[in-house]
Amino acid sequence: MAIDKELLDILACPKCKGELALTEDKKGLMCKPCRLLYEIREDIPIMLVDEAVRLDENLNPLPPAE
Ligand SMILES: [Zn+2]
Repeated sequence: MAIDKELLDILACPKCKGELALTEDKKGLMCKPCRLLYEIREDIPIMLVDEAVRLDENLNPLPPAE
C-alpha cells in the first residue's frame, strides 16, 4: 500500500509544520523550505527531524553528517 493523498494531507513537517511533498519514487516525504526528506519505511513515514535526510539546494540528498 502506498501513502495516499488523505494521509499526506494530515502529515506536516515536524520542524516547520509546513506541507510535505511526496517524492517521485514515493519513498519519502519532502519539506522544501527545510530541505529535509522524511523517509517512508514499510509504508510508515518517519516523521523525525533527527532521522530525516538533508537535501542540498537542488533537493538532492546529502550524505549523512558524521
Ligand atoms: Zn519543514
